[in-house]
Amino acid sequence: MNKSDKPKPDREARRQALLERLGVDFPRCLLCGEDDPRVLERHHLAGRTYGMETVIMCANDHRKLSDDQKDHPDALAAELSPIEKAARFLLGLADFFCDLAETLREYANGLLLAAMNCPAPWGSGPTLEGATS
Ligand SMILES: [Zn+2]
Repeated sequence: MNKSDKPKPDREARRQALLERLGVDFPRCLLCGEDDPRVLERHHLAGRTYGMETVIMCANDHRKLSDDQKDHPDALAAELSPIEKAARFLLGLADFFCDLAETLREYANGLLLAAMNCPAPWGSGPTLEGATS
């Protein structure tokens, strides 16, 4: 049987293959909440060269964090020491938390805007002018 004789996997089979690759049944980007497995990937927190710990990210957030890793210092030696491995992991976590802080700030500002534009059923809230009644 040559390659072209194989039946093409249907949408559900492709979805199952993606879920299997991600290793979870309900994947979600840790930064933006994207849950379409077609655009989710595993990001190596320390960088693929320095550690195997991964988190699920959407392609956009994965690309941004991988680009951040290009600003990390070059390898200290040909052989990775446990201390350098830990340091690389912490640098990756720091990048992740910086992006997470920005996401949380955007969510908070969105909620504040929504709160200003919707009368609160539980009592009076801030108004567009910023005054409370
Ligand atoms: Zn994302």
